[in-house]
Amino acid sequence: MKLNLNYDNIKKSYLFVEIANRLKAYTADNPGADIIKLGIGDVTRPLAPCVVEAGMKAVAEMGDAKTFRGYSPDSKGYDFLRNAISAYYKSNGVIVDADEIHVSDGAKSDCGNITDLFDSDNTVLIPDPVYPVYMDSNIMNGRNIILSECHEENGFKPAPDKKVKCDIIYLCSPNNPTGAAFTRAELKEWIDYANSMNAIILFDAAYEAFVTSEDVPRSIFEVEGARRCAVEFCSFSKTAGFTGTRCGYTVVPKELLDGKFAAMWERRQSTKFNGTSYIQQRMAEAAYSKEGIKQCRENINVYKENAKIISDALTSLGIYHTGGKDSPYIWLKCGGDSWEFFDKLLTKANVVGTPGSGFGKCGEGFFRLTAFNTPSKTAEAVSRIKKVL
Ligand code: PLP
Repeated sequence: MKLNLNYDNIKKSYLFVEIANRLKAYTADNPGADIIKLGIGDVTRPLAPCVVEAGMKAVAEMGDAKTFRGYSPDSKGYDFLRNAISAYYKSNGVIVDADEIHVSDGAKSDCGNITDLFDSDNTVLIPDPVYPVYMDSNIMNGRNIILSECHEENGFKPAPDKKVKCDIIYLCSPNNPTGAAFTRAELKEWIDYANSMNAIILFDAAYEAFVTSEDVPRSIFEVEGARRCAVEFCSFSKTAGFTGTRCGYTVVPKELLDGKFAAMWERRQSTKFNGTSYIQQRMAEAAYSKEGIKQCRENINVYKENAKIISDALTSLGIYHTGGKDSPYIWLKCGGDSWEFFDKLLTKANVVGTPGSGFGKCGEGFFRLTAFNTPSKTAEAVSRIKKVL
């Protein structure tokens, strides 16, 4: 028996475990501390009423012999949900056939599992800083990784370097952790770059619902040329508060490798995955109904307002930051060591954020705050941060 020793190359301690440990130690020494968490990227607002109603109805169906459902007919998801997702794209002016949509239990699994489809002898281009799943899942497969560096000079939005050759490109927009979002023109450069060397773009659109800027696409398929080179990962987690409910989907266009990629993904999923539960799929369908979109957007608007409060405060302090507009994340320049800044904010302001270095080498000197707390706690956190900066 031989283990996959590539696992030894992954960082041992997961970022949020280290944060939890430091927080635990601090609260043990300061039991009365009123801590405000702007750290982890998890939603806090309850599910939309029509989503809850759809879930209850689906549970009742499962309790009745006449409407009970077992395994879904195929791992791609029920037609009712794939049609609802296709209609959601159409409402945004993008044509995606229900056939091209593969429903899953979330974008994280899909972003990691898609690596099954590639030979290990591929070069992967990954932005730095980055959502750790792209990096770790490729390290697990022993692939060659090149980093595309993001920094203040490029506004944390890297442009393709035509001298660099690669086979697989991960892009995330609006971005976690930086909150930066590509414009149509910027995304077009990446699409042309990928098409010029037959590379594939794995585009993570988990935060598309936060986009309100006119020139920022919510889907890579809004941009010409993407259907020949891109796969798009989406999630109900941040769009509809499904972080605990679990549902996402991946779009694989028919044009990609003349349908071979879609067929391989379907084969992979039907072999290793038995579909998302009927109840979750009914809830997701409700989230994309007319009423559901309206109700979910009300929650997102609360988070967007929080983001604006944080961003405005940093602007008034003259602190460089990205995000906070089309994203629930605010990525601010803290100058020095980002773990030292974490400790300073924790001990002096009792506010928890996330050190940028946890997302990659280029994250050092930066710090991520999230907009997922309540408006009153966010405002209180901002007034405390202002006093210590
Ligand atoms: N992609 C990005 C960029 C994320 O930040 C997250 C969650 O934080 C996910 C994917 C995970 O999505 P899901 O909850 O659908 O697995």
